[in-house]
Amino acid sequence: MAFEDILKKYFNSVYTEIDFVKKTYAALNELGFSDENSIASTCICRDEISQSLRSIIKHMWGEAFNLSSLGGMFFAGQTGLAAAMHHAPNVEGRERYVYYALPHIAIDKDGRLGACMRTGREEESAACGALVAFQKEMTKGSLNLSMDDIDLEQNLLKRRLLREIPYGHIPDLLELTKITQKVIQKDLEHAINTIIDKSRSDYAILTGIQIHGPDANYVGNASGYVVVHNVREEIIF
Ligand SMILES: [Zn+2]
Repeated sequence: MAFEDILKKYFNSVYTEIDFVKKTYAALNELGFSDENSIASTCICRDEISQSLRSIIKHMWGEAFNLSSLGGMFFAGQTGLAAAMHHAPNVEGRERYVYYALPHIAIDKDGRLGACMRTGREEESAACGALVAFQKEMTKGSLNLSMDDIDLEQNLLKRRLLREIPYGHIPDLLELTKITQKVIQKDLEHAINTIIDKSRSDYAILTGIQIHGPDANYVGNASGYVVVHNVREEIIF
């Protein structure tokens, strides 16, 4: 099966990473956002293979505030978010924030979920490693949910995602990644709504699932919306 067909099997829409950022930039530009008057923030995994997306966002929007934790989880909280907002350009009393929030998954040429090769390593690797490790623990039936200081982000990730998984159900990696996408967006939105001043701020949330294919990175299940002068509008891809 061609890789494009594999992607279509798993996701209802897929763009290259570059097209995803270009399309979102163009759509937001129509609504008054630009690299001059907006600050971008990212909430994506720490994984080095995820950083290509940050590079493209930097190219289009300028340097982006980094809200990211393992798995792309939003644990930066109100403090991290407030910092990003306070760093935004203030143009004629108005501020604009653009949030890119995406978990990630690798898919190999045969359609195997989570499998990828990394430069300089001969053996197969996994992505998202944090979600794969969590999924393995669920499968084994031995979840470690301790909050000792030595593994804070991973334990927070497990505790947070468990709240969205029906008790006793073990999602496969794709389902777990889709759940993660919803959680990242929900937590980010919740924090935004607690601190934003919509009378003088416009913002956009762009989400999707970053996909590491055998030869390139893609974004699947893309969606997004913008809030301008307190009116929400969906972004059509
Ligand atoms: Zn990851």
